[in-house]
Amino acid sequence: MSEIYDHEKVVPDDAPALPLVMQAPRRGKPPEHWSDLDADGRRERIRAAGLPAFRASQLSRHWYERLDDEPSGWTDLPAAVREAVADQFFPTLLTPVRTLGCDGGTTVKSLWRLHDGALVESVLMRYGAGRPGSRSTICISSQAGCGMACPFCATGQGGLQRNMSTAEIVEQVVAGARALARGEVTGGPGRINNVVFMGMGEPMANYRSVIAAIRTLVAPAPDGLGIGARGITLSTVGLVPRIQQLTEEGLPITLAVSLHAPDDELRDTLVPINTRHKVDEVVDAAWEYARVTKRRVSIEYALIKDINDHAWRADELARVLKRRGDWGWVHVNLIPLNPTPGSKWTASRPEDEREFVRRLEAHGVPVTVRDTRGREIDGACGQLAAAEV
Ligand code: SAH
Repeated sequence: MSEIYDHEKVVPDDAPALPLVMQAPRRGKPPEHWSDLDADGRRERIRAAGLPAFRASQLSRHWYERLDDEPSGWTDLPAAVREAVADQFFPTLLTPVRTLGCDGGTTVKSLWRLHDGALVESVLMRYGAGRPGSRSTICISSQAGCGMACPFCATGQGGLQRNMSTAEIVEQVVAGARALARGEVTGGPGRINNVVFMGMGEPMANYRSVIAAIRTLVAPAPDGLGIGARGITLSTVGLVPRIQQLTEEGLPITLAVSLHAPDDELRDTLVPINTRHKVDEVVDAAWEYARVTKRRVSIEYALIKDINDHAWRADELARVLKRRGDWGWVHVNLIPLNPTPGSKWTASRPEDEREFVRRLEAHGVPVTVRDTRGREIDGACGQLAAAEV
C-alpha cells in the first residue's frame, strides 16, 4: 500500500546484500614515506641516517612548500645526500595510471596505482578558474575500496581491499597541489583551499592514518601544506565511536555525515552501518561534534527517486535535526544520485527535489543542492570505483 515501507523498491531484487567489513585485510605495507611521519619523527629518522636534524626542515620545505619532487633541485643539500634521502624517504607511492579532465579542464580525475597494485582515485575541482578568488577543492580517498556496503555507491559495491597509509592519503593532496602550482590545471597556477574525504573509502574506518594525514595537511610550513582545518571535510557513514573520538581531537575540521534517510527502517538498507548505529545515535554524535567544536555539521543526503525523496521524509529529516536545537548547528547537503552501473536507482524528479528543498527551508533548515561536477568522467560522488585498469 504505502510507498513508505515498500522494501521491494529499496533493495534491488538482483543484488545480494554485501557484508559490512570493519577490519581491513592486512596486506604488505607500502614503504615508509616522509609523509607518514610527523615533524619529530622526521628529525629522528634524519638523525638516525647520520644527518643533522635541520635537514628535516629543509626536506619538508622542498616537499610541502616548494612542491618540488626533483631531488636535483634541492640545492641546499649536498648532492650525495640528496640522492640518498630521496631513495630512503621519498619512495613513489602513487603512480598515475590515467588522468581525465572535464568541465573545460577545471575538473581532473586521477586514477592512481599503489605499490601493491590497488587502485584509488582523487578528483581536483577548480571553481572560478582564471578569476580572482578562484578556489580549488580536492576530493581524496582514504581506503582502496570500502567495506560499508552502501547499495547505491559504486565503491561500496566493490568491497574493501585495504586501508591507505598516512602518506598515501597525504600524497594525493601533494600531487594536486603540485599540479596546481605548476599551472598544469586549466586556469593558471593555483593552490588547494579545500580537501574533502569523499573519495573512495570510509575515513573513520581508517581513523589513525586519516587523522595523521590531516595533521600534515594543516601543519604550517615547513612541516605540512598549511591548509586551514576549516577547509577540510571528513565525510562518514556514521561510525559513532569515531565521531566521538574526533570531537576530542582538537582539530576544527568540518564533519559531514552521510544520513540519506531520517528513519531507521530505510537507513538500515541504504547505509548498512545503521544496523549498528541508529539514526538517533548518529545525529546525537554529530550534534555533540557541533556543540564542542562550534563547527556546523553537514548532513549528506543523496536524493534517490522514489526511495528517499518523499516530501514526508523531508519533514521527518527536519524534525530529527531540529529536535536537537535550532542554533545553526547543521546544514543539509542534497546530492542528486549519480546512478552507478547496473543499478536501477536514479536521481529524483526535478519537482520532487524542489519540494524536498522547499520543505526543509519551510522548517528553517539550511539546505544546498550539491553540484555534480565530473559526471562525464565518472568522477562525481559515489562513482569512484576504479575498477578498470
Ligand atoms: N564513506 C564516506 C565518504 C565517501 S562518499 C561516506 O559515506 O560519507 C562521499 C559521499 O558521496 C557520501 O555522502 C556518499 O553517501 C555519497 N555517495 C555515494 N554514492 C553516491 C551516488 N551514487 N550518488 C550520489 N552520492 C553518492
